[in-house]
Amino acid sequence: MPGFELFGDLERKEVNDVLDNGVLMRYGFDAMRKGHWKAKELEAELCKTFTTDYVQLVSSGTSAVSVALASAGIGAGDEVIMPTFTFVASFEAIMMLGAIPVLVDIDDTLTLDPKAVEEAITPKTKALMVVQMCGSMGHMDALRAICIKHNLIFVEDACQAIGGSYKGKPLGSIADVGCFSFDFVKTITCGEGGAVVTNNKNYYNNADHYSDHGHDHVGNDRGAESHPFLGYNFRISELNAAVGLAQVRRLPEFIKIQKRNYSIIREALSKIPEVTFRTVPEGGEESYAFLNFFLPDLEFARKVSQSLKDNGIDACFHYYDNNWHYIRKWDHLKDLKSLYPISNDVKEGLQYLKAKTFKQSDTYIARNISALIKLSWTEEEVYARAQKMAEIIQSI
Ligand SMILES: *Cc1c(COP(=O)(O)O)cnc(C)c1O
Repeated sequence: MPGFELFGDLERKEVNDVLDNGVLMRYGFDAMRKGHWKAKELEAELCKTFTTDYVQLVSSGTSAVSVALASAGIGAGDEVIMPTFTFVASFEAIMMLGAIPVLVDIDDTLTLDPKAVEEAITPKTKALMVVQMCGSMGHMDALRAICIKHNLIFVEDACQAIGGSYKGKPLGSIADVGCFSFDFVKTITCGEGGAVVTNNKNYYNNADHYSDHGHDHVGNDRGAESHPFLGYNFRISELNAAVGLAQVRRLPEFIKIQKRNYSIIREALSKIPEVTFRTVPEGGEESYAFLNFFLPDLEFARKVSQSLKDNGIDACFHYYDNNWHYIRKWDHLKDLKSLYPISNDVKEGLQYLKAKTFKQSDTYIARNISALIKLSWTEEEVYARAQKMAEIIQSI
């Protein structure tokens, strides 16, 4: 997955353009910048990649989710439905706005179970956020139907799924607003960066202003710009955007490599009766950033996970036992360990987490191994790795 594995002359050239004129800021400094507008160019490039009208770059994937929600008017006391299996950023981005993350079970797609979503809807629910975890997707048609029925804003966190698609549409471009991350380990990396993607002009304008202190970006004089509303600083820098620009042009090449490597490993594991694979909704095409498979039970998965590590097969994650990606270990959220006071709305809104168990999610995550697919492996290395993985699973 990480695009940094293939950094080269293209990335270097784009960064040097920025260093040559010294303008690290994405706005203003028109005379100094010798025509280089890396962030703007990257936004235009991403509009083509995602086939959407608007892209607003921001400082990270976490800020992309928060800016997307803010731009759609989500705020204090609003409930946002999200899955139990995701990166911690999902609830952070919701809580930054004083809104309440409502976690619901996943199914064998490894993201939102539409039935669990329906059951979690209350009069306070304002948005439904699907997380396209590990390069694949949720039941997008069913989830959209729920949003229409209950008048919810549909948000897509596609931070891990750039290059995947559903019924021919790029993941991240299907919901009302989509979010991407280009952090240091994502398929397209620029160090730190993210994007808000939408066809909604109003959301886009809001994101554009909100991520830059509420500046309206009218005219060339930043000092003379007005502030239609409050904002903060979630800007990307020109240096980061420059790296992203070189990387995104290589996306088709990256996806091709991911698909080759994924297919070789999948083929080897599919011969093992104990192994099954995650469900990809009909019409969906993964980004192939990870190969996700299920083993018969928790004990089996723990043994495989340990044995893979012992045998030097890195980057195979058993998220059940990991601190970052699954509700089971998110004690800081369950215990609401905040540095500063949190509103009573959020405190009360999160009470449910103390007692709630997520048995259905457990049955999937306990048995799941997520094998990261790297870009730098040669075909020979992938075949050797696939064979070793198969041997390890069969030896348990
Ligand atoms: C990486 C990631 C984020 C956050 O992105 P950052 O750029 O690291 O802030 C959000 N959601 C998911 C699913 C991610 O994988």
